Amino acid sequence: LTTKIVLAMLLGIVVGVLFNFLDSTQVLGSAVTGFINSYLTGGLFDIVGRIFIASLKLMVVPLVLVSLICGACALSEGGRVGVLAGKTLALYLVTTALAITLALMLAFVFQPGAGMEGLQADAAFEPKPSPPLSEVLVDIFPTNPVDAMAKGNMLQIIVFALLMGYAISRCGEPGRRMASFFNDLNDVILRMVGVLMVFAPYGVFALLANKIAQLGADAIFQLGKYFLVVLGALFLHGLGVYSLLLKLLSGLNPLELLKKMRPAMVFAFSTASSAATIPVTLSTVEKRLGVDNKVAAFTVPLGATINMDGTAIMQGVATAFIAQMYGIEIGLAGYLTVVLTATLASIGTAGVPGVGLIMLAMVLQQVGLPLEGIAIVMGVDRLLDMVRTAVNITGDSVVSTVVAKSEGAFSEEVFYDRNYDSVAN
Ligand code: ASP
Repeated sequence: LTTKIVLAMLLGIVVGVLFNFLDSTQVLGSAVTGFINSYLTGGLFDIVGRIFIASLKLMVVPLVLVSLICGACALSEGGRVGVLAGKTLALYLVTTALAITLALMLAFVFQPGAGMEGLQADAAFEPKPSPPLSEVLVDIFPTNPVDAMAKGNMLQIIVFALLMGYAISRCGEPGRRMASFFNDLNDVILRMVGVLMVFAPYGVFALLANKIAQLGADAIFQLGKYFLVVLGALFLHGLGVYSLLLKLLSGLNPLELLKKMRPAMVFAFSTASSAATIPVTLSTVEKRLGVDNKVAAFTVPLGATINMDGTAIMQGVATAFIAQMYGIEIGLAGYLTVVLTATLASIGTAGVPGVGLIMLAMVLQQVGLPLEGIAIVMGVDRLLDMVRTAVNITGDSVVSTVVAKSEGAFSEEVFYDRNYDSVAN
């Protein structure tokens, strides 16, 4: 299945590029492109892609809820919830701050915005006012668990599941019965994910062919330097920084992790949504990387919601790019503010397509840069969004592995086991 998913990705990209080429050059005439646009990209591929995303999203809430109840229950018995949460949050923050720093350094060296003064935005950007911090904090606590689940509010679901898991572990015999019920349910839900995965190659192919066919190739050429700097920073962070961190903090072989995360990365890349990828990330981290459920069930959904290193990288480079383009000096203090606000902005970014760009408004506002800049980088954001989402979820898996190893909730045997085949078997 893994091979099929990767092949589907490559095929999707090739078909997407071909359709994009046909559409922009019209070499085969308008009848052919008309057919492609109305029956393939705008028809079949669109439908298959949307059903595929729906099938992933379908599993997110039940999986996070049940799996975290089981995890919290096991954790509370060992009394380690606080330590685990502290370590996880600290690592999520540090990796994000590292990511922006790297992004700013690259933007400083390569100056992607220099000489771009004349660039005009072809669309206006209307920023939404960001809610006050107090609101954001209060909003983490659910008033109604059903409402939280219906809206897919991940942080509220996490709070509810932690509370329930804790209560189960303190409830004696009824608690034990509930724990065994939830453990069984968790197995069933993971199996459901496995069943849906069989259709994944078709979904991946359809999504990619569709998205890539619609990419604005002109914009990528025009903003080539910005595009390449963001891409370079994403690759450096995703391959280099994570490998170093994993090696230094837990002594594990990073290549193994990257290899095993490949299918999950393909999902993130094709859906551009960390949230929709949660079922795949969670099962990969548990079944292929050997992270115990009691750690992964907490770190993965939390990471998909608040840990966005790839997003922070885009925000860092975009801020520097916009400052350079408008010839505005924001100075060292300004860049430090960028590190801080982009870390916060990426925490506030929901794991769905394109939100990172909206949250960029918060960073620009903080350092007094014109918000129209967002409309300029918007043209190339779709492809970058796909790549940065893959980085986002890789970051979650690295932190999950490091935390699990340090908590003794990790199986090295599974981590190095080469006999894996499917994403969720
Ligand atoms: N699409 C990203 C994610 O889901 C968020 C973003 O940067 O827009 O992780």
